[in-house]
Amino acid sequence: MNPGTAAATALFRLLPVKLVTAASRLPLAAPLIIASVAAPCATTALCDSTVMLFALPAAALLAAAIAAAAGGTATDEAALAERAGHAVRIVEGEWTNIKVTTPADLVTAEAIAGREGQAPVVTAARVGTGYDLHRLIEGRPLVIGGIVVPHDRGALGHSDADVICHAVTDAIFGAASLGDIGRHFPDHDPRWKDASSLDLLRRAVALVAARGFVVLNVDATVVLERPKIKDYIDAMRTAVAGALGIDPGQVGIKGKTNEGVDAVGRGEAIAAHAVALLDQKVEPDA
Ligand SMILES: [Zn+2]
Repeated sequence: MNPGTAAATALFRLLPVKLVTAASRLPLAAPLIIASVAAPCATTALCDSTVMLFALPAAALLAAAIAAAAGGTATDEAALAERAGHAVRIVEGEWTNIKVTTPADLVTAEAIAGREGQAPVVTAARVGTGYDLHRLIEGRPLVIGGIVVPHDRGALGHSDADVICHAVTDAIFGAASLGDIGRHFPDHDPRWKDASSLDLLRRAVALVAARGFVVLNVDATVVLERPKIKDYIDAMRTAVAGALGIDPGQVGIKGKTNEGVDAVGRGEAIAAHAVALLDQKVEPDA
């Protein structure tokens, strides 16, 4: 088998059967077909791609095109083929007919070919918001984002009263339309007395995961007058990310004061806002 035939054979093996079958029905008068990649295109690179189908005889066509290349520059394979005296036809293709040029292209083409006949994976992004507030009193630890922050007051609550974890938990339940933290972990249930809110967050992720949800990212803002929390932000992000089962890079935490206004501004309370983005696999026809 000469190099031209080998290349054509490899190309045919990677292309969707539908297109190859269509090519076999075309008249011999148009032996060289350029399958233009039509919309929808996943990337600009794919939009620009073309795929050559050599109907008959592949080896002779390739040899003629390669020989014609010696005559000067050409913009693409179609130009070479025309210079060699062959007719070129443009037919509508599909974005999965990627141009196979480098070894990396082969990996992509084989992945596409391996997905043929499988149902497409369809996902649905879901967003949720959360809010929490606790009074600050003496004699309690101040737990924020799973980290104990040194202070003369701590948040009052049935659990460890971690406002970031509670706001993020509500955001996750909200995105999954599963109610709120009080519904799943009620403050009259002795199981949650002095519970770690990181653990509650872990349980919330397990509950939504059972319904096919995965957390893509969360972002939270904690509002308190004192103390400053900037030195603890990274540790909080790592702790919250660990409970969520995601990377710290997918967790945002910011600290703000309330400019001395209201109970938070007087240092009598701490609050947090959060937003969570979830993804869910859904049936293609759902
Ligand atoms: Zn709370």
